[in-house]
Amino acid sequence: MDGNLKSSDPLSITIAPYSGRPIRVSSGDFIRITDRQGQQVSDLWAFVVGDTLDWLSTSQTRDINESLFPAVGQSFYSDKGRPLLTLVEDGSPGPHDMLFPACNSALFERVGRPGHPNCRDNLLLAMQEEGISLPFVPDPVDFFQNSLPSADGRLNVFASINPPGGFVVLRTECDLLLVVTACSVDFHPTNGDRCTEIDVTVSPSHGHR
Ligand SMILES: [Zn+2]
Repeated sequence: MDGNLKSSDPLSITIAPYSGRPIRVSSGDFIRITDRQGQQVSDLWAFVVGDTLDWLSTSQTRDINESLFPAVGQSFYSDKGRPLLTLVEDGSPGPHDMLFPACNSALFERVGRPGHPNCRDNLLLAMQEEGISLPFVPDPVDFFQNSLPSADGRLNVFASINPPGGFVVLRTECDLLLVVTACSVDFHPTNGDRCTEIDVTVSPSHGHR
């Protein structure tokens, strides 16, 4: 499986724990991201690959939607303010984070685990597989991440409350290169106490499972 999709071919991908995958999708496709075992955060990036690169921007999305978090019916917008994806169904209790960066090598070094797998490196690796060398890393959408801010502005990450099989469905608004990860944080609390897989299905219709 090469991650490329013809418009009529449903595609199912399992993203192994501690890893990420590039997935090319077409305008109008439906992307279902399922947390098979529960409490597993999945990071999503989206890129418009053309003469110039555009990408899903969580800050533009917060600004245009006037919200810290995504809701059904709202879109995710690019750095240039273009709608890239729309959240059409939320089969999870949420919340979904748009405030944090991806987990990264510096984070794991701070907790005494140098060299640990992380979503940032998994993104860069996935993009390299697509022949793209990123000079920067946009912040991802962190599906199923339980990190609502406190009223006083503090940001804490708690264990995900997503149950086994919790999912989201996105509709693509243009041709995109997605990167989806199964987050690599394996110390309490983000993903519970362990990292598990994420299932992704790409289909030309919303009803496909
Ligand atoms: Zn992560």
